[in-house]
Amino acid sequence: MKKYTFLLAVVVAAALSSCQSGTDEWVELFNGKDLTGWKASENPESFSVEDGLLVCSGGPSHLFYETSEPFRNFELLAEVKTAPMANSGIFFHTAFQEEGWLKKGYEVQVNNTCAAVDNHRETRKTGSLYGIRNVYYPLVNDQEWFTLRIRVVENHVEVFVNEAKVVDYIQPENPWRSENRAERLLGEGTFAIQAHDPGSTTWYRFLKVRRLPEAEKTALRVEEAWDTTVTQLMDSGFPLVDYHVHLKGGLMMEQAIENSLMLGINYGIAPNCGLHFPVTNDQSLAAYMDTVKGQPVFKGMQAEGREWVTLFSPEAVAKFDYVFTDAMTFTDARGRRNRIWIPEEVWVDNKQQFMDQMVGKIEAIFSQEPVDIYVNPTVLPAVLMPEYDELWTKERMERVIKVLVDNNIALEINARYKTPRAEMIKMAKAAGLKFTFGTNNPGNELGRLEYCIEMIEACGLTPDDIFVPRPNDQKPVLVKGLPAQITG
Ligand SMILES: [Zn+2]
Repeated sequence: MKKYTFLLAVVVAAALSSCQSGTDEWVELFNGKDLTGWKASENPESFSVEDGLLVCSGGPSHLFYETSEPFRNFELLAEVKTAPMANSGIFFHTAFQEEGWLKKGYEVQVNNTCAAVDNHRETRKTGSLYGIRNVYYPLVNDQEWFTLRIRVVENHVEVFVNEAKVVDYIQPENPWRSENRAERLLGEGTFAIQAHDPGSTTWYRFLKVRRLPEAEKTALRVEEAWDTTVTQLMDSGFPLVDYHVHLKGGLMMEQAIENSLMLGINYGIAPNCGLHFPVTNDQSLAAYMDTVKGQPVFKGMQAEGREWVTLFSPEAVAKFDYVFTDAMTFTDARGRRNRIWIPEEVWVDNKQQFMDQMVGKIEAIFSQEPVDIYVNPTVLPAVLMPEYDELWTKERMERVIKVLVDNNIALEINARYKTPRAEMIKMAKAAGLKFTFGTNNPGNELGRLEYCIEMIEACGLTPDDIFVPRPNDQKPVLVKGLPAQITG
């Protein structure tokens, strides 16, 4: 009943908006029988129709919708399914091109597999406005139908995956573009579907479009300098992700997502999981997962204290995209529980001894706990922070890097604490470590990863230096399992 009421509301709303603003009717671009109205470039055999589905399977090619009336403002709706390793996409504002990757217009990416083809690490996931505003988190799986909706009005592009908005891009008057993507600009044109490579199969069930009326331009919500910074990183495929965001200080998921869309930074939202925390066993973990399902963010887990390993099953933990922990909670040689961000809960009897003990704890934690990332790295109790550079000797930094390398754990570059320093990041890069960016917001302010972005240049970081969450069968918690307890 509810469904019919909703449908009726949609129909009425559509009719109203159609009368009032001159919005066109929905038009099917694909007839479900053959490719009438479409024209392929090189490798036309990459496109076919089977069982009413448009199949893209094979080699680089593009299938163009033929129209005498170019599309400018529009809304396009597609239903899509991918096979593992599929890579496809829908171009808009494009034009027929005999061969090669398309120059004109924008591509909305279709790719749900977290893997590499021919040594090319394709991290940009479904919904990405490719090379301009990338989406790195997985929102849909291979072998499942999902909807893709693209809405373009003047200088404003919105992309929705299963109706979750993943891109909200406002093109500035004179946007920065690389030489390769000089024609990724809004204007007008037609649609094209991409067949990427011989190992890739994608199905389209329907593709429909309606034209939208002319409208006012949308005002930029960020400074042009920030737009340029983000576009430059996205263009080079740099995963601009804040993997360490907490819903704290009244920050709600909706607000976090809005911030993420506005800034162009992908977020990983992580609850604190451990003893005396809201997520404390498999049951509360499952309940949490229900609340974030389908949200356009990474789902991260902050593993708390040292006893977290005894509270959850590996299968439950593996529901998170990744797991991180820090070394800010540990019990010292005299049996005192240190929580080093709380001045009253830190015991520094002797600075050098404290450091040696803490490095020993870091080694114990990251050699035993099956996590992906070491966060809040090298942070010291407030009383020791002024001496950070002297206390973190080269030898101590080397010990930390070694345990991370040995256990394939990424190192967070923390925007709030501004740690580690460039010297250690360079050492870690030379040792082959991967990095994440993280804020660990104490309240509802998230910032813009300023320190992390500074470190990209200071340390010569490239997209390949950045961690990407692992596919399920490679997650440390499933590969290593959970120890009965942490010793040392
Ligand atoms: Zn945190």
